[in-house]
Amino acid sequence: MASQDSESNAVSQVGGDRLIMVSNRLPVSLERTEDNDWRAHPAAGGLVSALDPVMRRRGGVWVGWPGIADETTDTLRRVLDERRHAEGDYRLEPVALSAEDIAGFYEGFSNEVIWPLFHNRFTACRFDPGYWQVYQRVNREFAHRISEVAHAGDFIWVHDYHLVNVAAALRELGVYNRSSFFQHIPFPTADIFCNLPWWREIVRGLLSYDFIGVQTVTDRSNFLDVLTTMFDRVETEASASGIDIEIGDDGLARHQRRLRIGTVPISIDYAHIEKVAASEESLACAARFRESWGDRTVVIGVDRLDYTKGLPEKFEAFRELLRRHPELRTHVTLQQHVVPSRQQVPEYIEQKQEIERRVGEVNGEFTEPGWVPIHYIFHRMDQPELMAHYQVADIALVTPLKDGMNLVAKEFCAAKRDGNGVLILSEFAGAAAELGEHALLVNPHDVVSTAECIHAACRMPVAERRRRMQAMRKIIRAHNAFDWVEEFLRAAGAAA
Ligand code: UDP
Repeated sequence: MASQDSESNAVSQVGGDRLIMVSNRLPVSLERTEDNDWRAHPAAGGLVSALDPVMRRRGGVWVGWPGIADETTDTLRRVLDERRHAEGDYRLEPVALSAEDIAGFYEGFSNEVIWPLFHNRFTACRFDPGYWQVYQRVNREFAHRISEVAHAGDFIWVHDYHLVNVAAALRELGVYNRSSFFQHIPFPTADIFCNLPWWREIVRGLLSYDFIGVQTVTDRSNFLDVLTTMFDRVETEASASGIDIEIGDDGLARHQRRLRIGTVPISIDYAHIEKVAASEESLACAARFRESWGDRTVVIGVDRLDYTKGLPEKFEAFRELLRRHPELRTHVTLQQHVVPSRQQVPEYIEQKQEIERRVGEVNGEFTEPGWVPIHYIFHRMDQPELMAHYQVADIALVTPLKDGMNLVAKEFCAAKRDGNGVLILSEFAGAAAELGEHALLVNPHDVVSTAECIHAACRMPVAERRRRMQAMRKIIRAHNAFDWVEEFLRAAGAAA
């Protein structure tokens, strides 16, 4: 562990060698089998595939929870070491969490307080002081694990809202390695954020990092607004990598601090998505789907079960479309995939019931022999199947009420190898900042305009569909997940 006599206040420009990646979940989940052995599931997804090569190249340690409660650190460490290939692999350092930790830290503070608050749903927040206590304790536990594995010069990269307080906890332990934080979810406006009883502590936690990366310019300016609410003297200076912030002495010499905030939107592994879409498995699947839809226009939705995804509003817009444009009935189908998520949290159970009620209403109103308006499927698909659905769909309807980025929007474009498809995108998704010029942007609360937008997409000439889709594919290809990692490390002053 690296410590020094006094805290380094400068944004460092010199990169260390190893990376210490820190996220709530490790890229591997462990499970006990029935015969009391272990099974390891590697995590798939853009984040892991983008970070994995960098970790291999630079070496380092990934710190996180392996997804199983009430095991000791020694057991988890032993099993992870056994399951990993020794050569060329970076180390995985497990954080052992109890069922009580998970209830208070993950389900409680992370998902019932920060998640709704940062997505503008502060009435859904459960501001339970017990959750906050457990959140701080678990963040200290993560810091403790990091302090055991970090060497002087290692660069620490912490991911997301579960772990805001890790850098502050590291400083309490006397660890002053350069550390950075990437917030995958949005940052709310000051008037929403300040409803949090512990908002000042969260800000102090964020200020303990040397670099904070966010998805959009709006997130960045919301954070800067919060700083000016809290401190008398906040000076900012734009640089090529973001905005350098200097916080003045608060009179108690506690918060004098320099750090940087940068807009570094996350992306997808474009080449991998294209490759999966072109695989035999995916193409065979796509052929089957295409045959079953015939010449119907297919509108696809792929959303995790979450009240931020705007599913009731989406079904309302689709109902409006069928009411206003009866000629489309029997010719257009909404195929809505909903991925199970957070099924212990009461709001999610209610949300599922609400979604199913709304689907039932629309289908009850319009179904005709041989045609059901909304095909609703509650499941998780593997990548070849998902890519097949993207390829067959004519229109993607991506209408979250608030979303940090929304990778489905980007994946839909990457999978559209023939360049023929329309993306309807909520203006409140982070992806709108990059794709908004070529997607059809909607306000998901405005169901009439969204309905008209679906109508326009159904009628859009092929030449225009292709022009827009090719432009979006070019943007995503030029800024893929690997570019995102490079950009983050460069902005954080940690490029190799
Ligand atoms: N996804 C998946 N299987 C499914 C549906 C979705 O693997 O059946 C993946 C999808 O490929 C995407 C992610 O889930 O990478 C969803 O990411 P997004 O940013 O759109 O939303 P989030 O769920 O992170 O809020």
